[in-house]
Amino acid sequence: MSAPAEAKRITCAVCQGYLGTLVGTSGVYRITNRITGDFYIGSTKDAVRRWKEHRAAFRSNRHANRHIQNSWNKHGEDAFIFTLEEDACVDCLLPAEQSHLDRYAPSFNIAPEARCPGPRFRSIEHRRKIGAAVKAALAGRPGHLHTAESRQKISASNAGKVRTEAARLKMQERRIGVPLSESAKLKLSVYWVGRVFSDEHRKKLAAARLGQKFTDEQRQRMSEQRKGKPGRPISEETKEKIRAKAIGRTKSPETRAKIGAASRERRHSDETKRRIGESLRSGRYAK
Ligand SMILES: [Zn+2]
Repeated sequence: MSAPAEAKRITCAVCQGYLGTLVGTSGVYRITNRITGDFYIGSTKDAVRRWKEHRAAFRSNRHANRHIQNSWNKHGEDAFIFTLEEDACVDCLLPAEQSHLDRYAPSFNIAPEARCPGPRFRSIEHRRKIGAAVKAALAGRPGHLHTAESRQKISASNAGKVRTEAARLKMQERRIGVPLSESAKLKLSVYWVGRVFSDEHRKKLAAARLGQKFTDEQRQRMSEQRKGKPGRPISEETKEKIRAKAIGRTKSPETRAKIGAASRERRHSDETKRRIGESLRSGRYAK
């Protein structure tokens, strides 16, 4: 029986930072064709996953690097081995890879520069191109439907996620003009019942609504909904404001005709009559 191997301490070759004790996962790797001796150098956060990704691309003949893909096609999978050459922490991957590229000038590498992989580092223009290509490829296909279970999982994983302002704006833009389904409307209306907004929130809502025009249809609907319901109580302060605004405002002939017609049918209470008389006597309209 042999003694158990002593756990190997793994440190970053660049900054000497401690990485773990078992096997390295992040660092500089090689993919070598053992028959020809050609190799490719790359760096990764996760060597096992990266090798799987490369292999899957080779197997489906879709590897972005045609040079190594051709070699794979010619010599077969068994000719290739993946080796982690040097351990490096995530922050040191690029300098570590660059030093290997400079030292070995591997024949399979097309670019002599170590590049940041992944979508985070792609330019906006590059990402737009990818998006357009994907859209074109998917055009005309039926949409992908998630199962109820998977939708629940997606929703659970999104719950509580804090999004950047930019991301929220993008999400809003995408929703513009998309009609809500009936079930979504119902859910929203149940959600809002009995909710009380803070003053701050109400101010924000009002600001967002400022200048917003309702369609005739919306106004009709709003008016129908309000019919027969008591109006919102108006404070004395607000009433005074309305009064002040109304003074001196000229009404269109149309509006005056409407008011006239409405008041012809109206009977004032004795209290109101008294107040009207008082007001006429006391000044505001007196010459
Ligand atoms: Zn490091």
